[in-house]
Amino acid sequence: MLDLETALARILAALPPPASEAVPLSEAADRVLAEPVSSRADLPPFDNSAMDGYAVRAAEVATATSATPVRLRVRTKIPAGEYFADELALGECARLFTGSPVPRGADAVVMQEDTRTDVAHPADILICDAVAKGEYVRRQGEDVQRGALLAAEGVVVNPGIISLLAATGIAQVIVGRRPVVGLLATGSELREAGQPLVPGQIYESNRAMLSPLVTRAGGVPVVFPLVPDTLAETRSALERAFSESDLVITSGGVSVGEMDFVKAAFEALGGELQFWKVAMRPGKPFVFGRLGEKFLFGLPGNPVSAFVTFLLLVRPALRRWQGEREVSLPTHPGVLGELISNTGDRRHFVRVRVDPSGNVFSAGQQASHALASLAAANGLVEAPPATRLAAGAKVSVLRWA
Ligand code: AMP
Ligand code: MG
Repeated sequence: MLDLETALARILAALPPPASEAVPLSEAADRVLAEPVSSRADLPPFDNSAMDGYAVRAAEVATATSATPVRLRVRTKIPAGEYFADELALGECARLFTGSPVPRGADAVVMQEDTRTDVAHPADILICDAVAKGEYVRRQGEDVQRGALLAAEGVVVNPGIISLLAATGIAQVIVGRRPVVGLLATGSELREAGQPLVPGQIYESNRAMLSPLVTRAGGVPVVFPLVPDTLAETRSALERAFSESDLVITSGGVSVGEMDFVKAAFEALGGELQFWKVAMRPGKPFVFGRLGEKFLFGLPGNPVSAFVTFLLLVRPALRRWQGEREVSLPTHPGVLGELISNTGDRRHFVRVRVDPSGNVFSAGQQASHALASLAAANGLVEAPPATRLAAGAKVSVLRWA
């Protein structure tokens, strides 16, 4: 039985190099950059005003106070979006607004609140406060210089990065392709929502759960029909799913019983099993297999086991498949509000609820079929084998919500 870190390392090492595609910046959110992006422009692109006010020479208004204002002639008005090509002469200023280009000759901006008009001389303005050179001027290139790295390869594009790239005039980026992920659920007891159940049957819930998990991991989920527990039907379902997907996730049918056909059906198709069984709870039976450049993730059928193995073993693979560098789940520091103990011999990933201050409580019943606690949980806390984590213990909460 493999430990979790070894299992994950083997999965990541097996993945092909990411394939890339160009997308418009407007569709790039949450995608992974396949190439570093450098700036083609300075930001700000030109010296401009941070305030509504007047462009001045700081030296000319050095003595200005409310009692002894300095009079300047307003040479021109420069609204944002316009440009004044001339140079201000001595004794002159220019009316500016936030974002207006600062004209040549000026080296500072006096804000409007520090000025007074003079009714007798409407072409003048009285400056009532001194300014330092450069004050309220947003300098060309002070934020970003042309040629600077804006975002590195392997980084996920977020709205802040989109803002930065858009401001430098970038309209398209090269990102990792999204994997098409086929979802199969095996089990003769399973029925689709809306169908009547006869005794012994249950509603299928794993594909419904895995679809949004795949989407959140950047994949494109494709849900295939339910698969009854026979070797022939499992094989043909896998064949179809592999022909229409980059990666296939199955649930159920990977345990030790004689009704578990996923491994045999995959091998019958020509797939190579890479490993089976990972030392964790929930989730021990977990199959990773390779079929050419495509991969099988065989999750256990118990919904909580499928959920946890997806987060810890499949999600990182989907992220890395797209080229993302950092693929582990985010963690949140927390303090246990109650005892969590693991009497077993496998690492237990306990469903917990962490509040915004970091107080962590069990989300409820921990059996691997128990769904009310899964719905209530927003994180997992690892309890090592044969360990009691007392109330007050500091823990690291793995987050997905
Ligand atoms: P298996 O891994 O096939 O032995 O299934 C383990 C448990 O999970 C059994 O109780 C199954 O009925 C249940 N199960 C398997 N697949 C699903 C599914 N897709 N939706 C809900 N329950 C499932
Ligand atoms: Mg089954």
